[in-house]
Amino acid sequence: MSDVSAGKFKARVNRLRTRVAAAVPRPSRSLAWIPAGALTIIVVIWSAILPRIHAERQDTRNLAVAETEQLASAFSQHIGKTVHDADAVVSWVKYEYERSPSTFDLAAYQRQGLISADTALQVTLIGANGEVLQTTTQNAKQVNLSDRPHFLIHQANPEAGLYISQPVLGRVSNQWTLQFTRRLNNSDGSFAGVVVVSEDPDFLTDGFYSLDSLGRGGMLAVISDNGYLLSLRAGQSRASPVGPPAAAYREMVGAKGGVFDDPLDHQRRFVTYRHLSQYPVAVLVGLSERDALATYRHAKMLYIVMATIVSVLLLAGAYIIMVMMGKLQGLAETDSLTGLPNRHLLTQTLRRRMEAVGPSKRLAMLYIDLDNFKKINDTLGHKMGDELLLKVAHRLAEMTRCEQLLARIGGDEFVILVEDTEVTRKASALADAVIKLFDRPFVMRGNSYLICVSIGIAVYKDAGDNEFGLLTQADLAMYAAKETGKPANVSQHCTYTPALSERALQDIERHQELQCAIINREFFLEYQPIVSLDGELRGVEALVRWRHPTKGVLLPAEFIPFAESSGFIVQIGEFVLDQACQDFREWQDADPRQLTLSINVSPMQFTTGNVVHAVTRCLNDYMIEPDRLQLEVTETVVLDESALVRTRLEALRRAGVKIVLDDFGTGYSSLSNLVNLSIDGVKIDRYFTRDVPAKKASSAMLTHLVGLTRDLGLSLVVEGVETQQQVEWLSRFGNVMAQGFYFSKPVSAAALPIVRAA
Ligand code: C2E
Ligand code: MG
Ligand code: MG
Repeated sequence: MSDVSAGKFKARVNRLRTRVAAAVPRPSRSLAWIPAGALTIIVVIWSAILPRIHAERQDTRNLAVAETEQLASAFSQHIGKTVHDADAVVSWVKYEYERSPSTFDLAAYQRQGLISADTALQVTLIGANGEVLQTTTQNAKQVNLSDRPHFLIHQANPEAGLYISQPVLGRVSNQWTLQFTRRLNNSDGSFAGVVVVSEDPDFLTDGFYSLDSLGRGGMLAVISDNGYLLSLRAGQSRASPVGPPAAAYREMVGAKGGVFDDPLDHQRRFVTYRHLSQYPVAVLVGLSERDALATYRHAKMLYIVMATIVSVLLLAGAYIIMVMMGKLQGLAETDSLTGLPNRHLLTQTLRRRMEAVGPSKRLAMLYIDLDNFKKINDTLGHKMGDELLLKVAHRLAEMTRCEQLLARIGGDEFVILVEDTEVTRKASALADAVIKLFDRPFVMRGNSYLICVSIGIAVYKDAGDNEFGLLTQADLAMYAAKETGKPANVSQHCTYTPALSERALQDIERHQELQCAIINREFFLEYQPIVSLDGELRGVEALVRWRHPTKGVLLPAEFIPFAESSGFIVQIGEFVLDQACQDFREWQDADPRQLTLSINVSPMQFTTGNVVHAVTRCLNDYMIEPDRLQLEVTETVVLDESALVRTRLEALRRAGVKIVLDDFGTGYSSLSNLVNLSIDGVKIDRYFTRDVPAKKASSAMLTHLVGLTRDLGLSLVVEGVETQQQVEWLSRFGNVMAQGFYFSKPVSAAALPIVRAA
């Protein structure tokens, strides 16, 4: 084939293959376990990670809560000490003033360093009328403070003790200050005024705030029991003194690490509340939830990112594996030539369908085999064979469409699965339809080829069957169809019955028996004389028998047909040839007559065996003149048109061996064939002899045959001569050779009327 036509052929084949594949339903085995497996692993990963994340969050929160509690404890101590220090100054000034109001001089104390910016931002003495008496602030304005709450409280209540005011813009200091105040009494206990020690509100929280302990988003607050927010620091900004009212922090009172939304900066914080034991003051410590959970959130992010990456990788991996497995499965389940499901996929599908429907007579199988496909392959070449298979696949695929599964399970073997409530009827109708498909010839390279098919049908109705059993049944039925269809060159279908299995079993047994018979040399020969009409021995025909170990001696009719169909005939034939030649050699040595030896040769010895080699070897080994050997062949051999058989026949004739057409008249050969055939003689079947001379037609036929063979120079033996009458009738032809029970039945070599060496 040239490159161009090879390319075209390939393209055509590919087109057909694509069309076939497109027309075929493809049951594919589920690969769902792959994503399911991946999902399971993902679920396991996440169900390990999520509780872990949750636990870490809980741990972190607990830690933050514990930290706020610790800080609250420390801060409350700090505030206690700070208030105590401020009160010490207040109490000392009160004491000094009350001891000697007239000599009390704040400026002097200030100069002596007893009052400094370290101890208080400002110390002020307010008189009973609210006027500032003395103050540590330089050049202070003269103001009246009688409206201030602390003034009013001390004025009204001699027992008020230390009073802490809310941050106010000092009228004297002109700064936002926190005021620690106590009442000044005259010696008689009457109201003398108020001593005010002012502090920067931030002073309360600044001294405690540190980034290390509170972080960037921490919060400190000091709240007085009378409802003032004394100092507040939230994050980096100082909120006091203009922060929200203390009431905004009301819900945090009593908190122990709970999370609150800060009313000032709206940050969420873990907050702990603690009240000072010795002062009417409470503290709040807050740790920013964001800061506290930052490490946890980082870890959580890491966990989630890792788990997501693993999940995505798993899913991607599962997808890739699924695609790859799908492709591999496709390859493993597809016939590479036609693209149809292959044997593997068929048996898998069949098993599943059988399990699904049960032996309910709802499932059947058509086993389709092309007749003589081997011949097409051998004569037209494998590429044409492939193209034919594709065309067949295409026709079948178009017919079955997506209704039935169509598979190619071997060289020229296709299977269709049928499912129906009336499956027997449907399968038989489908088989008819398939046969009809093959009525149309297949056109390849401009030539038309009519192909016959043999179809076996097997219905699933026996619970004991499995997919392979059903295939075997369909196969047996197909062979039964072939047996009847192939010789007549017609397509046939046959439905499986148990008798077919029995026959198959018998065949297997017979196969075994024959094999043993060959090994154990159970075959032996009898010889039937071929005589002239006066009874003189002219030759012998070797006839094989089988001494069966249990059945006794079997005649050829009981084993030759099977030996031919099973191929054993080649070995049996070679034994007969060798044994007969060996016996013949002995007789030749002693008997002076020019006898002939006739041996039956099966067609298979011409096709499968090498009859030429076997014959020449025997002639040489036993030194037999070739023209003394007559090979009796059937007309299948002489009418065979194959080059191999023709060459072998010719080779034998060239070697001098005579070829005799056996059983003439029983087959299809006509008289005219005799003229064209390359044979040396004819044996007329006993079918004609039987009715001679009673039946006119047989007598006339025999008369013509004798004339014809004589004219053509062919030898002639009349078989089946059984009576004196037949001999007398035959004697009219003069020198005719005969074989029959009248003269002798087949006998052992020893019983032959042969002259033997003394
Ligand atoms: P065949 O070659 O036509 O052999 C003659 C058969 O006719 C023999 O049967 C023989 O016993 C039988 N016969 C001969 N004279 C008479 C008669 O007067 N009346 C009747 N009724 N029968 C007669 P056999 O031995 O049973 O052989 C049957 C066939 O088996 C042979 O027919 C031959 O075709 C085949 N055969 C025998 N031996 C061999 C062998 O070694 N190789 C092959 N391939 N075929 C063999
Ligand atoms: Mg014969
Ligand atoms: Mg015969």
